[in-house]
Amino acid sequence: MKLSFEKSRKGRSFPVLPLLDVPKKDLPGELVRKTPPRLPEMAQPDISRHYTELAKRTHGVNDGFYPLGSCTMKYNPKLNDEMASLPGFTGVHPLQPPETAQGCMEVLFEAEKLLCEITGMDAMTFQPAAGAHGEFTGVLLIKAWHDSRGDKKRTKIIVPDSAHGTNPATAGMTGYQVVNVPSGADGGVNLDELKKAAGDDTAGLMLTNPNTLGLFDKNILDITRIIHEAGGLNYYDGANLNAVMGIARPGDMGFDVVHLNLHKTFSTPHGGGGPGSGAVGCKALLEPFLPKPRIVRGNGAYSFEDPGQSVGNVKAFYGNFLVTLRALTYILTLGANGLADAARNAVLNANYMMKALSDVYDVAYPGICMHEFVLTLENLKKERGVSAMDVAKSMLDYGMHPPTMYFPLIVKEALMIEPTETESRETLDEAIAVLREIRSRAGADPQKLHDAPLGTPVRRLDEVGAARRPVLKYNFDGNG
Ligand SMILES: *Cc1c(COP(=O)(O)O)cnc(C)c1O
Repeated sequence: MKLSFEKSRKGRSFPVLPLLDVPKKDLPGELVRKTPPRLPEMAQPDISRHYTELAKRTHGVNDGFYPLGSCTMKYNPKLNDEMASLPGFTGVHPLQPPETAQGCMEVLFEAEKLLCEITGMDAMTFQPAAGAHGEFTGVLLIKAWHDSRGDKKRTKIIVPDSAHGTNPATAGMTGYQVVNVPSGADGGVNLDELKKAAGDDTAGLMLTNPNTLGLFDKNILDITRIIHEAGGLNYYDGANLNAVMGIARPGDMGFDVVHLNLHKTFSTPHGGGGPGSGAVGCKALLEPFLPKPRIVRGNGAYSFEDPGQSVGNVKAFYGNFLVTLRALTYILTLGANGLADAARNAVLNANYMMKALSDVYDVAYPGICMHEFVLTLENLKKERGVSAMDVAKSMLDYGMHPPTMYFPLIVKEALMIEPTETESRETLDEAIAVLREIRSRAGADPQKLHDAPLGTPVRRLDEVGAARRPVLKYNFDGNG
């Protein structure tokens, strides 16, 4: 397929900008570029075909099964997008006087209220644009709290080894030392190791529960108590709330701050870099430190207010507003019972698949899982030379997106499967049949699996090369 730059022909274009309807202003000379940008020039039908062709080569939730563990690739109801397309929401300007944007402020206010109820928190900000960004903001709150008490000796954040990679990265970004705590044989946090790690240099703990193994830690109350007793605060990575929403709340488990990926659990399409929302909720003790401004209600109207000891801004204005709007639409559509049902179905679907595969694949941590489960292909690799990568690539030939691979790091040859609640029993049965067929092929004809995928636009890619020597720019001059 040709790139748009290769399809470009000089002078071929069509108008995309509306006619000027405000007084013309010239930009200061130093801001005006000296040469026009080298953009592709194309007619509308060619652009339309270009993007349609690209879309056909991509796999999304609207194309088929997408069990990418930890990413929660669930179907997003169309109603959310209808709401997010209403001109009253799309045409608003962030610098409009508050009295002319009351409806949008109400959306943020109501979403905050409902998500606080779902998480058991007291206040929330929608400013962070993604999960990792929310983690960063949340840990800044923890840091600001210790600082406000003059407690300078806390230099460490404890992170279990089953954590999402963004957790230690966040702790590092915020200037903390990361202390790793190993998991026990049951996949939960090892309490003895946690007790040893916690002390008066502990700023806090970052934990995902259910963790990335798809397991709910049954010692969660002990875990958060140990950290509180050491003088630290507890951070809940709630990127994926699918298994617990409407059923269990981080706030009741002893957590002080939580981020949610509204673009995972709360139904905004994601992938390809956004836009997303890593909303951060916190208990009242951290509220004074939240990013500014906050929306408050008084005398029947909404207004903005800066929290006293705010950590500042982590993004301009109020975050990705339309993502918050989609989350509110989703929550109001499902209602409290609907959310809990969605969570139960997410757990049911994962257990259904796990059980149906467990006689032909090894489950890393057998027992009841939450919204996802992890297979380990270590034995298959040893015995037949077939890796997790081979199985994942083979799925592509059946029109299915592969699961998450080689994560969590503590499981060898891991395949992490998250079917989500929006898949029907028929789709699950089909995926189970495909995975079983691939497994039997691994016995009969492993070479086929090493060669997969056979039917995709490109075969196996040089993934290391793509990561180490990414080609992100079009080479206009053709001389490398
Ligand atoms: C996806 C995810 C994140 C990171 O979210 P981004 O929006 O990709 O930054 C963090 N923690 C967990 C557990 C996740 O699943």
